[in-house]
Amino acid sequence: MITRNTTRPPVFRPAPAAPEECATLTLIRPDDWHLHVRDGDALGVVVPHSARCFGRALVMPNLQPPVTSVAQALAYRERILAAVPDETKFEPLMSLYLTDETPPDEIDQAVASGKVIAAKLYPAGATTHSDRGVSAVEHIHPVLERMEKLGLVLCVHGEVTDADVDVFDREHVFVEKVLSPLVRHFPGLKVVFEHITTSEAAQFVRAAGANVAATVTAHHLAYDRNALFAGGLRPHYYCLPVLKREVHRQALIHAVTCGNPRFFLGTDSAPHAVHAKEAACGCAGCYTAPLALGLYAEVFDAADELHRLEAFASLNGPAFYGLPPNAEKITLERESWQVPEHYAYCGDRLMPLRAGAAVAWKVV
Ligand SMILES: [Zn+2]
Repeated sequence: MITRNTTRPPVFRPAPAAPEECATLTLIRPDDWHLHVRDGDALGVVVPHSARCFGRALVMPNLQPPVTSVAQALAYRERILAAVPDETKFEPLMSLYLTDETPPDEIDQAVASGKVIAAKLYPAGATTHSDRGVSAVEHIHPVLERMEKLGLVLCVHGEVTDADVDVFDREHVFVEKVLSPLVRHFPGLKVVFEHITTSEAAQFVRAAGANVAATVTAHHLAYDRNALFAGGLRPHYYCLPVLKREVHRQALIHAVTCGNPRFFLGTDSAPHAVHAKEAACGCAGCYTAPLALGLYAEVFDAADELHRLEAFASLNGPAFYGLPPNAEKITLERESWQVPEHYAYCGDRLMPLRAGAAVAWKVV
């Protein structure tokens, strides 16, 4: 799947398709159930990319400082809406950042707002801007009880943060040590295990009850960890959880194409300026918003499961969150296009995944 080449980023090669067969694909407009849009000037660059393809997006709260209150989330929502192009309909769905100090009453306010639909558990130190995250799940038991009672969804960054656990093992250790006990302790809590990357995580979700689901990113479906080292170090392919072995990528493809309604689309598109990625200690995060839908279509196409893309992208997520699917439709065409080399971004550049290379499917 990976082209080794010292001048170009790695390229996912979809299986050759029959030339005329299914050259267009019309779907109910998809939603992105895990998205980072940052704040300030960044919004004007990245929000239009998501709004072009997706009807709604669950916006992550890991700003600096994080979005820990409903009032902050609603103000942030207004700033995002101001960056949506006039002719576009795009609804940001908001999430709260849980800390050791989150008061349970904040959950009541979130539910009452109708606009904050999830709360996010970042284990402290797990990823970008997670230093104010939860230091031990026991600290937020009263909050989780309230969420279970009121039906607010818990979104989980599923990695342990222990320095002595290998970075490639942090997700499946999290399943054993944190997530399994949490789900047992709160059997009615709705949980989204976000951006899963391993066969163990997929298996955990399959075996769990109807209240446990997972999002899967386009980059974890399109690339294995070789992409990080293809011809040299590839910082724009570095994200957390980090890309895994090919066997795990295959397990994820199976999970999203097998018809299980508890797997759905979440890009985890995460913009960072080039100077922050191409550094001695580069940031984690792949910017995929402009091409994610094309990447997902490539993966489903290569697996000969394009007919399952609509459920994964447009139906399973709303059903889990108790929302109606979008009313609009979107059409994809099997026609190669070139991802821009970069976008202007806050006085720097923003380099998307697969910059300068081709994607086999495009949004019409
Ligand atoms: Zn994320």
